[in-house]
Formats: sequence, structure tokens, C-alpha cells
Amino acid sequence: METIVVKFGGTSLASASQIRKAAEIIRANEARRYVVCSAPGKRFHDDIKVTDLLYRCQKLAADHQDFEPVLAEVEARFSDIVRELGISFPLDVEFAIIREHLETRHERDYMASRGEYLNSKIIAAYLGFPFVDPAESVCFEDSGELDAERTNHRLFAALATLDNAVVAGFYGARNDGVIHTFSRGGSDITGSLVARATGAKLYENWTDVSGMLAADPNIVDNPRRIDYISYQELRELSYMGSSVFHEDAMFPCQRAGIPINIRNTNAPEDPGTMIVASLPRILPPRTVTGIAGHKGFTSIQIEKAMMNSEVGFAARLLGIFADYNVSVEHFPSGIDTMSVVVNSDALGENRDRIMQDIRDRLRPDALIAEEHLALIAVVGHGMSYATGVAARIFSAVSSAGINIRMIDQGSSEINIIIAVEERDCENAIRSIYESLARD
Ligand code: ASP
Repeated sequence: METIVVKFGGTSLASASQIRKAAEIIRANEARRYVVCSAPGKRFHDDIKVTDLLYRCQKLAADHQDFEPVLAEVEARFSDIVRELGISFPLDVEFAIIREHLETRHERDYMASRGEYLNSKIIAAYLGFPFVDPAESVCFEDSGELDAERTNHRLFAALATLDNAVVAGFYGARNDGVIHTFSRGGSDITGSLVARATGAKLYENWTDVSGMLAADPNIVDNPRRIDYISYQELRELSYMGSSVFHEDAMFPCQRAGIPINIRNTNAPEDPGTMIVASLPRILPPRTVTGIAGHKGFTSIQIEKAMMNSEVGFAARLLGIFADYNVSVEHFPSGIDTMSVVVNSDALGENRDRIMQDIRDRLRPDALIAEEHLALIAVVGHGMSYATGVAARIFSAVSSAGINIRMIDQGSSEINIIIAVEERDCENAIRSIYESLARD
């Protein structure tokens, strides 16, 4: 039997009417056997996600304050859903357990997970599918790291005998049974793990947009939809903050070679975006697949005469950042110059100590920290065999009167990263998009 794993996000399951749309999509294709659900998200612009309400309850309980009004809001959201779906579901029993937990232990991840747990149980009842609790099959180490292999075996064992199932997204449990969640938006990861474990031919990720866009629509007017994108391109763009899909979620599918289709629950006829290992050859080659930018970087620039002949210089420089547990994002270098680009938040209060260590241990001729930089990634497999792409990027940016502070091209040649001042970020993205990515 062919298998498609479908995951529905919070807005796709925010109310009974949204859940009905999801159910229609599931029933339209019997290969859609395994369903992964998020907690109810926003129904309208100023609404609050159930997960956020649950975090609030937990915080109030931990601070020994009255959590009851917020918990009542959560309960009301679920009872509206249950009533409007016309099913019977023991919400009172479930909420008695949650209340008891809040009064006694109030564990943060346990509370956050209850949105997915309840929504998935309700949707399972509505669809007539068995409910699978990931507390028994998504396994985390005590350190909080996912145990991917054990998870794969456990999910396989839990699902192999079931024709259909609803699995709650976002959480699992540690060895001691304590509930542990992924980072926010983590139901995407659960969906990908279920797809891998069940050998699915496709992982459909249903959300509230018709796929990924070639640039942020808050920056570029009406950017084109990306029809196909490779795992590698997606990785480059999501690292830079392009965020329809959780940045860790593609790895289980990539490993198993399962394509991922981002689709819109509110426009199910739209084909969405396909995320694949390699782009189909029948498509006309596109030079740039997408552009994404991210603010909040600092570049630390070091100059020293004869640096190139000082053996171990780069290792010692990077070692200083490692000593402070600061991850290095980019590391462009010249003959007697090196720059280390790091996330400014990660640098945090260690900034001055790191600068002093560089002065003491490497004795540079000049050392400058340039803050408030934005990195812009221009990504596309087509760039590796097209000539003049870099020249077009630079001329687009310079004709907008913007100074480029750093250039870095990955060895795979599928991305060119430039740094500009934060205030120039949006303009730079717009001008690159118009020149290289609109068609
Ligand atoms: N409900 C969680 C969140 O709001 C996880 C998810 O929806 O994927 O982040």
C-alpha cells in the first residue's frame, strides 16, 4: 500500500471548520494514511495560539499565580472544536489531568505538548483513526537531543500494523518518560520522522500558504512561488530565516530520499512547492531559486602582516570562539586578513573578552568589530553553471547605492552570501530580486 504522510499546521487545524477541510484532504486520497497534527493555531490575526496559552499557564503555575482563567481559555477552544465537530470526547477527564499536573509539577514541555496531544486525539476520533502518542515513540536523550535511530525503530513498530493513524506533533519523551518538545514549529520534524519510519513515497506539509516564495513578501511585492527546490537549496534559505518549514525538518526525509510537498489547506488545488533531492531536468533552468536575508551579525576583522605564513593562525583564531562556545557562521579570508562573522546575540557579553583574547594571543596589527550587519543569501543550483551571476548581484546592489561589506561563495557554488549594513538589507534584497530572480 502506498503511503503519504500528511502534516497539518496550527492554522490548518485552528477551528472545527479548518479541521473539516483537513479531513476532506485526507479522505480525498487513501494513500494519506498517517496524519501528524499541530495544536490549534491562530483563527484570526490577533488570536493567540493554544501553545502560547499553554506556555502562559505553565509560567503562572510555576510563579504560584492563578492560571485558571488562561486554562479556561484553552478548554473553551477545545470544547468549541469538539462541539462543532459533533463528536463526543472526554475533555473534562483530560483537563482534570492537566490541572492536576499544573498544581503539582508544572513541567514546561509537558504543558506545551498538551495542545498537540489533545488536538490529535480529537482529530483521530473525528476521522475514526487510532491515536498514536509520540511519548512512546519519539525518543530524546537526557541532553534533549533527538535519538533519531531509536525513534525510527519505535515509530515503525508503532505504525507498521496500523492502516491509518493520527500522531501528535511537536513532542516525544526522554528515557525517564519525561515529555520533551522540539523547538517551536517542531511538528514539521515529527511529520518528517513519521515519513521516514513508514517509508512514505511523499511527505505533504499542509500549511496556510501555497508553498515557498522566492523572497519575503514583506520585502518584495508579489514574489514568485518556488515550484521545485532541492534539499540543499532549502537548507541554505531556511538557515537565513526563510521560514515556511522548520529548518531541521527536512533531514529525516532527505536521508530517506522522500520528497516533501508544501501545500495550502485553504487552496488544496494549488500544487505548492516540491522539495526534492535534485531538480527535474524537464524544467527550464532557473539561475536563482530564492533569496533570504537575516539581520543581527557581527564581523570581527583581523589584519596582520605575513599572516599567511604564520602556521596555525586560523586554528588559533577559531579556537578562541570555540572557547567561548560561539559558533562561527562565515570565515572569509585574504592573504593577511581574516574575518569571522558571528551571530551578535551568540557573541553577547563575551564580545570584549573575545576581542581581548585575540589581541593577546594573536597580536594582530588591526582588529575591528563591525556590528549591525545583515547577511543575504542568493541561492540556486543554476548559479553553479551560469556565468556572471556574481557580477549581476554586485551591480544590482551597487546600483541601489548599497555598499557590500563581505562576499562569501560556498564551495558548492549554489549560494553567494553578501553582508550589508542592516538598514540596507531590504533594499538590497529587492534590487537582487528584480535583477536576478523575478522570472
Ligand atoms: N504548536 C507548536 C508551536 O506553536 C508546534 C507546531 O505547531 O509545530 O510552535
